Amino acid sequence: MDIQKLIDDVAQALSRYPNDGKVADYIPQLARVDPDHFGIAVADVDGRLFTTGDAEIPFSIQSVSKVFTLTLALGRVGDHLWKRVGREPSGSPFNSIVQLEAEHGIPRNPFINAGAIVIADVLLSGHQPKACIAEILHFLRELTGDFSIAIDPAVARSEQETGFRNRALANYMQSFKNITHPVEHTLGVYFHHCAIAMSCVQLARAGLYLANNGVNPTTGFRVVTRERARRINALMMTCGHYDASGDFAFRVGLPGKSGVGGGILAIVPGQAAIAVWSPRLNKNGNSLFGSLALEMIAEKTGWSTFG
Ligand code: GLU
Repeated sequence: MDIQKLIDDVAQALSRYPNDGKVADYIPQLARVDPDHFGIAVADVDGRLFTTGDAEIPFSIQSVSKVFTLTLALGRVGDHLWKRVGREPSGSPFNSIVQLEAEHGIPRNPFINAGAIVIADVLLSGHQPKACIAEILHFLRELTGDFSIAIDPAVARSEQETGFRNRALANYMQSFKNITHPVEHTLGVYFHHCAIAMSCVQLARAGLYLANNGVNPTTGFRVVTRERARRINALMMTCGHYDASGDFAFRVGLPGKSGVGGGILAIVPGQAAIAVWSPRLNKNGNSLFGSLALEMIAEKTGWSTFG
């Protein structure tokens, strides 16, 4: 299979499609991005890399960062994590508060905002916020071997200034004692990891351990056990696209995690990690062209978790 030709063809085909998606503007800084960026990177477990379009331009990874904070939190507390966060799809928007009351402050899964805020709180234990943020960044730099990866301070500030919903979620969960640090510390960690900027190339490389049974194929270093990699993939498949996770599984059939910056990381177990970026989002807050590109790639390659 000629992956380079395939992704070039996908980019070409999509350039002829109308795109009526909308860039996220509830975080004002995100609205400043050029909405027509489009990039794809495919990194395979044999060390090959294929790119097309704006694959080298860093963008705000937003919720894609939650895959990596989940990995770190599982490393920190193991299965104890599941006392504080569930493992079920929410069927609700990414920033929803409705289920939290009935479910006593335990978020449905680690990928909705409430769940990721609890994960940030877990990572904060025994650390100052700055050290915790540095640890997350260090993890991504180690995974990619790329020490240029950094936080976009303007995005972090913008989230901090306008994150009223996330503040509400964190305060609400604190009333159930599921946030154990000062809310502003926990949110500081959360906002900063969402504001990490990475390119498609960096993101695809960072995700490779999930395609390779938990081992980073570039360094040979085991990041997580095989079982844990499988479980993170399962959560990406069932919860990675918020209330459109079922649709993503139906159309693409691969574990994937999207972010409101327009990025999606998809994992092809045993084969490759794919990162796509296109800032215009569909009504569920997932990249419109990013999802379409992955659907086309999955169809043409036959890559699927479902045979
Ligand atoms: N930082 C964003 C927020 O908290 C993340 C949302 C997303 O990417 O889905 O709203």
